[in-house]
Amino acid sequence: MTHHPVPFRQFVLKVHSRCDLACDHCYVYEHADTSWRGRPRAASDEVLARTAERIAEHVSAHRLRAVHVVLHGGEPLLAGPVRLRRAAELLRAALPGDCTLDLRIHTNGVLLSREFCELFDELDIRVGVSLDGDRVANDRHRRFPDGRSSHAKVLAAVDLLRLPEFRHLYAGLLCTIDVENDPVAVYEALVALDPPRIDFLLPHATWDVPPKHPDGAGPTPYADWLLAVHDRWTEQGRPVPVRGFESIHRTLRGRSSLTESLGLDPADLVVIETDGSLEQADSLKTAYDGAPATGFDLFAHTLDDVARHPGMLERQSGLAGLSARCRACPVVRSCGGGLYAHRYRSGSGFDNPSVFCADLLKLITTIRDGAALPAPPAAPPAPLTEEQLLELASGHGGGPTVRALAAAQLGLTRRLLAAVAAGPSPAWDVLDELDGRAPGALDAVLAHPYARSWAVRCLQGEPGADLGGLAELAAAAAVRAGLPAELVLPVRGGAVHLPTLGRVLTGGSGEARLTVTADGFTVDGGGDRLRVRPDAPDAPDAPDAPGDGRWQPVRRIPLPGWTVALEDTDPQRDSHQWPAADRLPDPELTAWTADLRAAWELLGRELPGHLPGIAAGLSTVTPLRPGPAGRDISAAARQAFGAVGIARPTDPAILALLVAHEFQHVKLGAVLDFHDLYDAADDALYYAPWRPDPRPLEGLLQGTYAHLAVTEFWGARARTYDGAGGAAGDRARLQLATWRAHTAEAVETLIDSGSLTGLGRRFAVGMRAAVAPWLDAPVGAAAEAGARRAAAENLERWRARSPEQAAATGR
Ligand code: SF4
Repeated sequence: MTHHPVPFRQFVLKVHSRCDLACDHCYVYEHADTSWRGRPRAASDEVLARTAERIAEHVSAHRLRAVHVVLHGGEPLLAGPVRLRRAAELLRAALPGDCTLDLRIHTNGVLLSREFCELFDELDIRVGVSLDGDRVANDRHRRFPDGRSSHAKVLAAVDLLRLPEFRHLYAGLLCTIDVENDPVAVYEALVALDPPRIDFLLPHATWDVPPKHPDGAGPTPYADWLLAVHDRWTEQGRPVPVRGFESIHRTLRGRSSLTESLGLDPADLVVIETDGSLEQADSLKTAYDGAPATGFDLFAHTLDDVARHPGMLERQSGLAGLSARCRACPVVRSCGGGLYAHRYRSGSGFDNPSVFCADLLKLITTIRDGAALPAPPAAPPAPLTEEQLLELASGHGGGPTVRALAAAQLGLTRRLLAAVAAGPSPAWDVLDELDGRAPGALDAVLAHPYARSWAVRCLQGEPGADLGGLAELAAAAAVRAGLPAELVLPVRGGAVHLPTLGRVLTGGSGEARLTVTADGFTVDGGGDRLRVRPDAPDAPDAPDAPGDGRWQPVRRIPLPGWTVALEDTDPQRDSHQWPAADRLPDPELTAWTADLRAAWELLGRELPGHLPGIAAGLSTVTPLRPGPAGRDISAAARQAFGAVGIARPTDPAILALLVAHEFQHVKLGAVLDFHDLYDAADDALYYAPWRPDPRPLEGLLQGTYAHLAVTEFWGARARTYDGAGGAAGDRARLQLATWRAHTAEAVETLIDSGSLTGLGRRFAVGMRAAVAPWLDAPVGAAAEAGARRAAAENLERWRARSPEQAAATGR
């Protein structure tokens, strides 16, 4: 075979080679291959470090933008938290900044604890759990060595992953089929656990050791079993993605498969054993002793060496690598001959159809003949617990709470996108493909704050918000993933835009053709052709390519514990109340960088409670044009979670204040998308002590919540000056006196409105408790008097502007 090897994008890292269960269907311990007996129990530090280096080397050599690493075993949790942390940290440290790492762990769940979940939250590791269905089904195989059931322990593990603080870690359930189990009962038991995805796996078997066929079950028990599940799944409106079914639906429409067990996509997976040996897919363990071995190891060989191994090449050769019968089969593009390991027969090796051939043929043709369009997904659950809401009410909210908000926002953006797309298109096909093959890269683009604001404007039919935006998002995600794609993009304002990455100045208008390859992209437009290799799109010093400055990357400012994009290329960023600034010239970029650093340090010193939330949820600062007469200008936008717009103030301390203030709006907006805090039918207007115009209830709630941070900011500043500080100290004390009074008064107005829901009232009581300590902070008589004056002046302005309301409320 002469074709080039496909680079690996999926790495299965065996962190522990033993298991605490003794499942009799396990391919590692119960099948032909016995190599586990000679392996070290856990991967050593040396193996982990070498793994990280080798993957990083492979990523750089092939300019990969995204890789998937699964921490596997045996049972990977047996490796313990220290080893798992080490594995994750070494990988993250070694990979280049522009490569997205999708890190997962596949566990039997028995040992999964809150401590492990907290670790996975910190290290961003998503968790897949093996579970074979209801108790009867699971106990058929998944038992401890002494025969005890593991079912209750696995359910407890899944319950942990379903908690709001860990939900974003829940990657899905993996279920190995046993045709003696009731298919609908198994399916229902899995769906009841609300997984984000289910994988049904055929049991491992070969022509030498065929799968079991119970008496009287007919010739295709596996197809019949899966079709019973498929019927129920379809009847229920496909409430959860089922990987095998989706792969069949996709391949029937000519798209890529989502699993190596179906379809013709080249295998791009390599296994790293605990001793550093490099092997082919684990499923080969079922074939014969030593089947997955390549003879290579991390210490002596590169991953490219393994990619050239004949066994690997054979699994990358598509149709040509299949048996004659498969090549002539009508469903070969969907089936692909099934899982490679299932084709094995002594004598002919892998040159056979799958041992499940009859089942695969029936499954695919039945689904093909009855294929229906997917039903819309069910409405999502509210993302936060009451405890988390009250944590936000008390003034800020930690990393897990803000990450839960971000995850819910991502889901919202995905649904909006589906509504905008409203059916197949070339851009939608690319997004769909990326969703299956590089979900991390896709999410990185869909989490862009202005993806949602574009989608909303599009649905509202606003000018400048058109379906070209879909192609821009698809292109950016394809570039991040390094997956080949061809798209037609709009030229807006003389540039082609790749949200989150940057823009290419092409000049002109109309459309340009964008071709994505593994190491960059080419833009053809206006009679010109530009090749761009955005080597490090996440790095602030990414080399502009081409060298004539026509590629303008989004610049990211790395700060301790927080990296923030200074968004000055995406036309959709003009989503705030004030106009966005143009592309920052270098001196202005330098000033922004220095000021953000100073502001972040100040926040760390004086408002440390706000840091984890900001780091978890504020991805983007959009520079705005300067305000009139030097006024400080800043804004958040309800449809742009994760972004704030700010005109750079002269004082970095004020930048810190504006960031904290606006991020309060960002968080509360995200809460209000999912949680009812007030009666939306209330159309009354209320007095806000900081504004001359009356405000609707939501406006008052938003202002109050933002001013909690303002109060805390000035309180912290006043404490820093501690009765001294000259004019700066006097200003801090006056501001504290003013804002604590405004905020406390507004909290009472909210509570007295009678229009808060029970939850909203508890939220407001939480805000009351947050402002209360500041009411006792000493500020001196002058500041008290100044604050009273400010309050009286505002009330006067309000009375003049809204006399009827003033009279009606007795003010
Ligand atoms: S259904 Fe059978 S013959 Fe057809 S591709 Fe699959 S394994 Fe090969």
